[in-house]
Amino acid sequence: MKQKDITALLDEPACAHNKKSKSGCAKPKPGATAGGCAFDGAQIALLPIADVAHIVHGSIACAGSSWDNRGTRSSGSHLFRIGMTTDMTEQDVIMGRGEKRLFHSIKQAIDSYHPAAVFVYNTCVPALIGDDVEAVCKSAAERWGTPVVPVDAAGFYGTKNLGNRIAGESMVKYVCGTREPDPLPEVSQNKSIKIHDVNLVGEYNIAGELWHVLPLLDELGLRVLCTLSGDARYREVQTMHRSEANMMVCSKAMINVARKLQDAFGSPWFEGSFYGVRDVSQALRDFARLIDDADLTQRTETVITREEALIDEKISPWREKLKGKKVLLYTGGVKSWSVIAALQDLGMEVVATGTKKSTEDDKARIRELMGRDAVMLEDGNPRALINIVRDNQVDILIAGGRNMYTALKARIPFLDINQEREFGYAGYTGMVELARQMVLTIESPIWSAVRQPASWQTSKNRKDDENSQQLTVNKGVG
Ligand code: SF4
Repeated sequence: MKQKDITALLDEPACAHNKKSKSGCAKPKPGATAGGCAFDGAQIALLPIADVAHIVHGSIACAGSSWDNRGTRSSGSHLFRIGMTTDMTEQDVIMGRGEKRLFHSIKQAIDSYHPAAVFVYNTCVPALIGDDVEAVCKSAAERWGTPVVPVDAAGFYGTKNLGNRIAGESMVKYVCGTREPDPLPEVSQNKSIKIHDVNLVGEYNIAGELWHVLPLLDELGLRVLCTLSGDARYREVQTMHRSEANMMVCSKAMINVARKLQDAFGSPWFEGSFYGVRDVSQALRDFARLIDDADLTQRTETVITREEALIDEKISPWREKLKGKKVLLYTGGVKSWSVIAALQDLGMEVVATGTKKSTEDDKARIRELMGRDAVMLEDGNPRALINIVRDNQVDILIAGGRNMYTALKARIPFLDINQEREFGYAGYTGMVELARQMVLTIESPIWSAVRQPASWQTSKNRKDDENSQQLTVNKGVG
């Protein structure tokens, strides 16, 4: 990838800070890729496309470092879960065999699994030795008759976030617009309601949470052409250009896709979230607003009224238990504000929130929700998190999996909200699950058990302990 292409991705005009000052994204500092390199970002953004063979072109370590760590679910094909790599070695580098190896790997993937398409992720080593991945993909596609898409996202290009954008860029450049959507099934055509096509960009179907939302969209007559990329199929990505409205579900990840689809095909987009009752209702309203169909608007309000009443009833026993409980939220990006709204809906108090991966836009929304003095944690090292928990008598820490051991060692109730989580929290029903999981976590008897002094810390044992230590010391002296 050329430097000018990377710069263009970093200067994404749809980002709020570029609209104001054209400052571009912050330059990566040394160590920035410790949170994931560009390849990692590109791979996790596209891996949920389930019927594609994902080949990592590079050394085995790249493929192994982050394979399938996201709890994304598929309703059909599980091809995406098979790790494929060209496994380049020193000999391949010395002998210049990288391209040949890639060509044969593509053939092997096609022969063995007959995928809808092959995605090839470029990594540092082949990028440094100058393998022409794009040319290999082109010639393999012609030779074997299966689409082969290059995703040129070598790790040294930049951060994980840049990788997300490179992934989106590859989809827009090579895949979107290569097929028209299927005609509507006859039964839908006969329905009195008009069907509108939409896309969800940046929704990854973690723990199957997309399936909480799809029935609502279906009821409203919103046909989801593609979710990029949760539970997606290659043929769905091909039709993304035909949507009437796009929702950006995660603000920073693939904003370039929404903006480019708007520029090229005129489909408007909005940024929203499916976490929390208020936000789900707002997302449905935003679809109706952008599509501008009076009947859809009216039906949306009916569905919202019904669902909010229903969920209120289901959630009230949990809300009673959670009311007034204090939360420390340490997550990033869109979740730094969307989950605040969800927790406030439950009557909880958010004492601080993490903003490590949040944009200025995200921070403005946090201030809107938590007030101007909101505590925002840029760098939540374990000690800082524990101090905040102790100082504010926090009842639960909600964070990503990497903070789990910090919480457990400090005996703090902990709920995983990030990509490795086991429960889906999106949509109205996801909200009930979130409330239920929080109550189960806070009320678990394990906390009172582990907070008891250990058996060797009881007064009798302590005395025995001290005596035996004294004895040892005396014996030593003797
Ligand atoms: S792409 Fe580069 S930075 Fe990323 S895992 Fe591979 S070698 Fe490391």
